[in-house]
Amino acid sequence: MTRVLVTGGAGYVGSHTVRHLLGAGHDVVILDDLSTGHAESVPHGTPLLRVDLRDAQAVRAGLDGQRFDAVMHFAARSLVGESMQKPYEYLRDNFGGALNLIEWCSQHGVQRFVLSSTANLFGNAGQEPIAETDEIAPGSPYGESKFLIERALSWAERVHGLRYACLRYFNAAGALEDGSIGEHHDPETHLIPIVLQVALGQRERVSVFGDDYPTRDGTCIRDYIHVSDLAAAHLAAIERLEDRSVALNLGNGAGFSVLEVLETARKVTGHPIPHVLGERRPGDPATLVACSDQARKLLDWTPKYDLDAIISHAWAWHSKHPSGFR
Ligand code: UDP
Repeated sequence: MTRVLVTGGAGYVGSHTVRHLLGAGHDVVILDDLSTGHAESVPHGTPLLRVDLRDAQAVRAGLDGQRFDAVMHFAARSLVGESMQKPYEYLRDNFGGALNLIEWCSQHGVQRFVLSSTANLFGNAGQEPIAETDEIAPGSPYGESKFLIERALSWAERVHGLRYACLRYFNAAGALEDGSIGEHHDPETHLIPIVLQVALGQRERVSVFGDDYPTRDGTCIRDYIHVSDLAAAHLAAIERLEDRSVALNLGNGAGFSVLEVLETARKVTGHPIPHVLGERRPGDPATLVACSDQARKLLDWTPKYDLDAIISHAWAWHSKHPSGFR
């Protein structure tokens, strides 16, 4: 059994990963300041440390005396659009918080560190699909903050021998298969939950952010990957990567445009889901699709769910919990 600290374990991808870790028999402690996470998503009996990672003293006070074999780091500000408005907050909070955590890990014998990283560090690569060897050119302060953390980890390995896996997800979406937990951000900015809120009648229409991108229908193309597939990859990263550090892209390898996501959601929900055309959102690259061959090989990982399944599970969550965790 491995004892795992999961920062941001009350958040979206973190809470799903916690379920997978517990299901595989690991011992889990969650660290979350609940600024965007939900206490309701923490499984009964799982310890929750309410710590703000930006405060080095609070990190030491919360963690000193504990022992962890592995740390999974999800806690971060994670909105591309918002990061274009608040670049310094994103850089300072995400990088500063991660440094406090990595420093603690280096000093306390943590063997493995798994970082929730992002496809946004490839910026507007325009190449399809994107491999780990492609040029890093962060598309936003959010992407840059994750890249800085990846660099800090490479120094933690060189200086302290900390082994790490940076998992660069493309677009996390979906919900636990039974619809018991799912995505809940306030305010919501992500495409699939917004589309489903329109299906539920909570919003009038979806605004499509730009239709003049160089893509097949002019709207942005993304690689949507099921949150349970991401959780499975995190588990594999601590169970299979014995003695090496890696940076791996996680996606399905299939790109869908905003209009195609809308069409799929209309089919899955049976609701009309009206949309209007809006302005481009700063920071959005035209196309982001993953080549995940390395993850498939090194983690022995294959994504199980396609876009239909992603939207059906998200629909189960949203229709059972129209106000999310509230
Ligand atoms: N998008 C949109 N309308 C919305 C929200 C998102 O057209 O109300 C687009 C957005 O521009 C991007 C895609 O949907 O091309 C996915 O955006 P999301 O915020 O879900 O994820 P991101 O790509 O920013 O990680």
